Amino acid sequence: MLLSEKEFGLLSGNYSEKRWANGEGGSIEQWKRIFYRHFGNQIMDDGHPDTVPLGWDSSALTQYRAYHHLDLPATGLVLVPGSTSEVSLMVRLAVQERVPVIARGGGSGVVEGVFPHPHSLVLDLTHLDAMGPVDATNGHITVGAGVNALRLEQHLNAQGWTLGHWPQSIGQATVGGLVATKSIGQYSTRYGGIEHMVRDLEVVTGTGDILSVGHLSPRRSAGPELLPLFIGSEGTFGIITQVTLKLWPAPEHEQGIALSLPDFEAGIEVMRRWIQSGLSPSVVRLYDPAETARSFASIRDQSLLLAVFHGPQAMTAAAVQEAIRRAPEGMPAEQSLVDHWFQTRNDVSAWVPLLKQGFLVDTIEVAAAWDRLAVLYHTVVDHVTAIPGVLGISGHSSHGYSDGANLYFTFLANPGKPEDGPPLYRRIWSQVMEDSFHHGGTSSHHHGVGRIRPAWVARERAQEMPYLHRIHDLFDPLGLLNGGALWTTFSTGSPNDGDNNSSS
Ligand SMILES: Cc1cc2nc3c(=O)[nH]c(=O)nc-3n(C[C@H](O)[C@H](O)[C@H](O)COP(=O)(O)OP(=O)(O)OC[C@H]3O[C@@H](n4cnc5c(N)ncnc54)[C@H](O)[C@@H]3O)c2cc1C
Repeated sequence: MLLSEKEFGLLSGNYSEKRWANGEGGSIEQWKRIFYRHFGNQIMDDGHPDTVPLGWDSSALTQYRAYHHLDLPATGLVLVPGSTSEVSLMVRLAVQERVPVIARGGGSGVVEGVFPHPHSLVLDLTHLDAMGPVDATNGHITVGAGVNALRLEQHLNAQGWTLGHWPQSIGQATVGGLVATKSIGQYSTRYGGIEHMVRDLEVVTGTGDILSVGHLSPRRSAGPELLPLFIGSEGTFGIITQVTLKLWPAPEHEQGIALSLPDFEAGIEVMRRWIQSGLSPSVVRLYDPAETARSFASIRDQSLLLAVFHGPQAMTAAAVQEAIRRAPEGMPAEQSLVDHWFQTRNDVSAWVPLLKQGFLVDTIEVAAAWDRLAVLYHTVVDHVTAIPGVLGISGHSSHGYSDGANLYFTFLANPGKPEDGPPLYRRIWSQVMEDSFHHGGTSSHHHGVGRIRPAWVARERAQEMPYLHRIHDLFDPLGLLNGGALWTTFSTGSPNDGDNNSSS
């Protein structure tokens, strides 16, 4: 059964209008005046139609709606705090005035985690951009949450270090955003996701308290940790203001290979064999025949598998030989394909013209155990292809584990008329989420939940939800932090009384 648009929870910005309509808050003008009085010189955007809408993220549907002049709400106020204590003061004032607060990093999120509303305050955290020294004995660095991820990586590389985290959005994302969305980068098979890199966080809770969670020791057995609660919490448990990260010495050498395989299934099998055998590539990427043909024009009707190894040169050379030996069904392809991938790996420039021309294009990522990947992949491709208006869907897998991997789908659709875009978009998303659920996959691998996935996450985690809600209430008792995203609703409102997500 596909979820209805209401259950889908998409574009559900009117939660706080109801709150105000119920007399729980003052008028917008009233609270704006108060913030102007206290933080007038830190206001970037006051919701005036002429100002840049700093409150949005990079979600495909938001961009589509903007390009085609479909209804998009304005932001209330965008404030730019310069320190943790200012974040705390702003949250305390928001609590006093009962104003919802949305944290914003680089705005590269793709699931409407940052979605504006006339009643909401957006805290643009990009001025929290201090970088401490590299602790070269232990391999640690402490940085402000607003530090741009590429700037951090370049800063580390210049000193012989790496974080080992290279998401495609590295040029736009902030460190706080990476943590808040539980991001993963292209080198994940060796270095892990951001959750394997965070040692300590400073956060401002929904009451304005400043809290430090984590420890600089490599491990402790001192009771359950609070730190993981904030990783992937999408600005609902607290606002991350500072992050201490674990580093690696920059790799001595990097060596890649490309193999062509008869089909996607054969590639999945080789990926599994490599990873389970203990071969430890930093990058593993398997493209289905459609994506292979689109991105690597010299290979037709086959799947392409890329791997990149990091380490001392003798080790990377041996690993490449061993990888080839363990993939007898594959044919080594030109080395230039690896170089081509490196050159183009961050390029998504084709999207904007397509969205502007009226096409829908987006990606949806899920994960599953090895034995479910192939059937899940084929089911999604078959079902989505059959939806009227869909022009194509393709997939790749770019993050492998000993017990499974992700699937990353890209679809292109033509809704015909702009106003038919949002329903078609929802229909495609619904289909992929349903298929993943029914084939034992998860509703998300790394883009997070935002305002697009809450209903499916609630279904997938039904038993955990009441506990998560109670834990959330400890950190954000009024439910002011990014209400409507992830699984949260305003705790004073009825969970079922609005277009807000159905996940409560
Ligand atoms: C072209 C493109 C490629 C991408 N590639 C990848 C990829 O390879 N891997 C991947 O994991 N993701 C990828 N993404 C998604 C996105 O870049 C990540 O989710 C990223 O972590 C978001 O960081 P940000 O600073 O831009 O956060 P924003 O978009 O500003 O915010 C995202 C969410 O985090 C919350 N948030 C932001 N900062 C804080 C903070 N300091 N404290 C509390 N909450 C906060 C926001 O409220 C929101 O819910 C890609 C996106 C694009 C557009």
